[in-house]
Amino acid sequence: MTELTDLGVRALRDGIRGGEFSAREVADAYTDQVSRAKELNAFLVETPDHALAAAKAADDARAKGDTLAPLAGVPLGIKDLFCTKGVEATAGSHILEGFKPPYESSVSQRLWDAGAGMLGKLNMDQFAMGSSNETSAFGNVKSPWRRSDGGNAVLTPGGSSGGSSAAVAARLCPAATGTDTGGSIRQPASFTGISGIKPTYGRCSRWGVIAFASSLDQAGAMARDVTDCAILLEQMAGFDPKDATSLDAPVPNWEAGLSSDLKGKRIGVPKEYRMDGMPAEIEALWQQGIDWVKDAGAEVLEVSLPHTKYALPAYYIIAPAEASSNLARYDGVRYGQRDLPDGANLQEMYAATRDHGFGDEVKRRVIIGTYVLSAGFYDAYYTQAQKVRTLIARDFDMAWQDCDLLLTPTAPSAAFGLGEKSDDPIAMYLNDVFTVPSSLAGLPAMSVPGGLDKQGLPLGLQVIGKAMDEQGVLNAGLALEERAGFRARPEAWW
Ligand code: GLN
Repeated sequence: MTELTDLGVRALRDGIRGGEFSAREVADAYTDQVSRAKELNAFLVETPDHALAAAKAADDARAKGDTLAPLAGVPLGIKDLFCTKGVEATAGSHILEGFKPPYESSVSQRLWDAGAGMLGKLNMDQFAMGSSNETSAFGNVKSPWRRSDGGNAVLTPGGSSGGSSAAVAARLCPAATGTDTGGSIRQPASFTGISGIKPTYGRCSRWGVIAFASSLDQAGAMARDVTDCAILLEQMAGFDPKDATSLDAPVPNWEAGLSSDLKGKRIGVPKEYRMDGMPAEIEALWQQGIDWVKDAGAEVLEVSLPHTKYALPAYYIIAPAEASSNLARYDGVRYGQRDLPDGANLQEMYAATRDHGFGDEVKRRVIIGTYVLSAGFYDAYYTQAQKVRTLIARDFDMAWQDCDLLLTPTAPSAAFGLGEKSDDPIAMYLNDVFTVPSSLAGLPAMSVPGGLDKQGLPLGLQVIGKAMDEQGVLNAGLALEERAGFRARPEAWW
């Protein structure tokens, strides 16, 4: 018999509805799996009671003959960036240690309203700043994957949603929420052989999601396949008057709209994404993806996004600028930790709290952000970066005159070993080279597994769509998924 933890969102939902197994059995199987995987360090907090309560509600509803909610009894992992009422939310930082939000984020509330349960809070890069999970104040998450050459190097699950990607890949949860500011859903999905979608900016409410860079932050779904991403995202998305940038538009039924027939679709391949020094395996995977979408009926053409090379520098001005402003609220007075050295005055208390509470990467960004926003430098850096952002968005608008979707690799490499890049922030930032442009333009984008590299590690392909065209993105993702036939999974060693 298939283990319940091998089943994804759709199979669990349908199995619970059809009485093949109870929601209680599902919750028990997953909570057990979570409790035995401490070595991965994917969960910061385990909440079996939450998952069991949702399971009981689902089983009771079914026993009474009531119609089940869309995700009734499906247990999920929640990235620790989401505020969860009464359950610690730290954003992976010491400064928020002990913070139990008195409210629930809009996205997680939607999931509970849809009948889902929470298995726990997932580890992440501190304040979602990072690409490897090494900036977490609570120890890095370990990828469940290992290289096939026999080396036991511990690999990164990607970041910042690395707890989410590791937990989904290791079958500790069928799906998880993630957030993506510059690639934090897509790059970890690529590194761990799972699917992940960042919707159009504004689709998912930011209310109750701890802020990093507000004009870029967007929640999304991470799951084992494209269909499960569609199902989960549908429940996460929706207008929320509590978020001023929330999109006031109906959420389509993405699951029902899934089709891998790409006839009539024009798919652009941006020539500027052919970077110097890109590994041959990534290049080969990209070509494979092109062949797959052609096989699905799409027409493929080369397009140009001329300002691509300015995307990373612009992002690494805009994101830290917004972060420095958002993180000003952590003053030791209002939330979490306070450091009050003997005889310290207010200023000294702020300084000590922030010095001890924030990690190095967070401090680096607060300092860069404060610098680029300071009088005298504002125009040279921040204003200039905003202009570049407009040009990047315009590049995409121009491309949409010729094509409907774009196909690119998700990341410039497979997962790297922990410690391999942590001393070189620029090398780390280069990980985001393919994901940041669509974030700056607010466009929906997803990563699906395409294959394995020579060392047996997963590589992802990215589909980028027009604003509001999550359906087009999911459909192209499905076409790739069907053709890639990706079945590899990490063997349990944890
Ligand atoms: N790795 C990028 C950064 O460090 C993106 C992070 C994210 O999307 N949250 O900013």
